[in-house]
Amino acid sequence: STSRNFPVDTLKFDEKGLIPAIVQDAESLRVLMLGYMNAASLEKTLESGKVTFFSRSRQQLWIKGESSGNFLHLQSLRYDCDADALLITAHPEGPTCHTGETSCFYRESPAPENELGFLIKLQHLLETRKSTLPEGSYTTSMFKKGLDKIAQKVGEEAVETVIAAKNEDEKEFIYEASDLLFHLMLLLTEKKMHLTDLVKELEKRHS
Ligand code: AMP
Ligand code: ZN
Ligand code: ZN
Ligand code: ZN
Repeated sequence: STSRNFPVDTLKFDEKGLIPAIVQDAESLRVLMLGYMNAASLEKTLESGKVTFFSRSRQQLWIKGESSGNFLHLQSLRYDCDADALLITAHPEGPTCHTGETSCFYRESPAPENELGFLIKLQHLLETRKSTLPEGSYTTSMFKKGLDKIAQKVGEEAVETVIAAKNEDEKEFIYEASDLLFHLMLLLTEKKMHLTDLVKELEKRHS
């Protein structure tokens, strides 16, 4: 049987009955892990909404998160042009890698992670701050003040950025522009939005 009309029968499983499946975070689109599925694990994934692989080491169905609780909640499933690879977007419940890293692909060579990737990490940190409100954090105090105060702060930082732009001091401009970006990210988080929402909008305009 097929679930939700996904054409399991058209997929090209290898000689061992497996197909590789790449999992991306549905929000950040970061690649989280690569696993292998057989027809049964794919059907289980579609039926349960929890990403389920076939463990090649244990030779059995493996619900990702079954022992750690770090489930991957299915958002979308697609297959590639020659139907021999799957691409999944999912909402991760906790870190995906058994090392505790968000993604299994946390090692990068030769360069360390690019600077823009840090923005995504920072956005996630802000989301965590908003949901846990730890004591003694500036971010927590801003979330406690609420939307109006955060929005006002964005306005102030924008004005400071404009003033700094007119000065010769390059460092001052970078400092104020960073403040502006940070507070804009706070505002996005307060509104339950994400930097990627802005990227999507900008991409839409860029045709
Ligand atoms: P879990 O499915 O998260 O409960 O983890 C069960 C077991 O699967 C772990 O003890 C690891 O051996 C293995 N495992 C968990 N996550 C991964 C992963 N992302 N990639 C490879 N193996 C994993
Ligand atoms: Zn192709
Ligand atoms: Zn392919
Ligand atoms: Zn891993």
